Amino acid sequence: MNTKATLIRNEQLLFEFLRSELKNVFDTGGKIAVKIHMGEPGNQYYIKASFTKHIVDVLKEAGCSSFIFDTPVAYRSPRNNPASYLNCAADHGYTEQNVGAPIIISDRGVPVKGTHMTYRLALDPIEADGVLLLTHFKGHIASGMGGTIKNIGMGCVSKVTKGAIHEGGEPYYTEGCTRCNACVENCPTDNIRIENDHPRFDNTWCPGCSNCILSCPEKCISPRIATFDELLSEAAVLAHDRFRKVYAVNVLKNITRLCDCIADSGPVIVNDIGFICGGDMLTVDIASLESVRKTSGRDDVFSDYNKRSSWEHVRSAARLMNRSMNVSINELH
Ligand code: SF4
Ligand code: SF4
Repeated sequence: MNTKATLIRNEQLLFEFLRSELKNVFDTGGKIAVKIHMGEPGNQYYIKASFTKHIVDVLKEAGCSSFIFDTPVAYRSPRNNPASYLNCAADHGYTEQNVGAPIIISDRGVPVKGTHMTYRLALDPIEADGVLLLTHFKGHIASGMGGTIKNIGMGCVSKVTKGAIHEGGEPYYTEGCTRCNACVENCPTDNIRIENDHPRFDNTWCPGCSNCILSCPEKCISPRIATFDELLSEAAVLAHDRFRKVYAVNVLKNITRLCDCIADSGPVIVNDIGFICGGDMLTVDIASLESVRKTSGRDDVFSDYNKRSSWEHVRSAARLMNRSMNVSINELH
């Protein structure tokens, strides 16, 4: 397994690099799914259609056709059904005419049994000859940061499974609370109060991030099924294993506090870094987190803002893939 990541700071250099790299990854004549998030209406920091067009052109030069792919979201949003997501995508410049590849939004899924639950994995990327994962790397309320693992674990599953992952990570109290307040302080949505000697969860805004569970020193909060990190990473690994060929590019620019699912994704919290490329989701996410650590000078800048470790779901994916967290980063000049 290749655990080498490549850091490229310049966009033109990235396209040159991908010209030689993608020829070696995807077979000539292949149909490649470009998995991308096209941005919630009002969001400014999603990956722009003009950039994606360059990637589609590079794939064409490699002899591959492609389609731009995403799944509808589970929450209330114009992106929660394929037809209106297509309208949102078009408003953000994502049309076949602009990008040079069809835009496919689909909730078609195939059931795959995991350890914790049965996930419905998006069928289109699995049926494609390969998947190019193109991900804006930024913060996320439920997983600390959203990188390629998140782009697959939440982005390549059906709406029903997205909901099940969030609900499966929701907390319930068992026993043994010492009123230390750690769960209250570490809830990113201020969803917990201590009442009658134990935590009460006000589920008006609980994305099931499981951070209260991870924060409790007494282990007296449990997830309904498993932690968000375990469920997200399991879905990602099951899908990633089924892709025929994979390549991943993380875009480390406009690194905002929150994700592109939100109209206002908050401030940019890290200076632009560039692009991290690699042969699998784990390699690029570890390399991206390391690059953010180096650039920001902070151990986990996303956690500083979102009260939520960025590393937890990455470590969970590494365990499931039986991989270490060691990755080498080669900077291309
Ligand atoms: S920490 Fe996360 S899972 Fe726990 S109550 Fe807050 S939002 Fe919900
Ligand atoms: S973190 Fe655990 S012990 Fe501390 S207040 Fe919350 S439930 Fe109680």
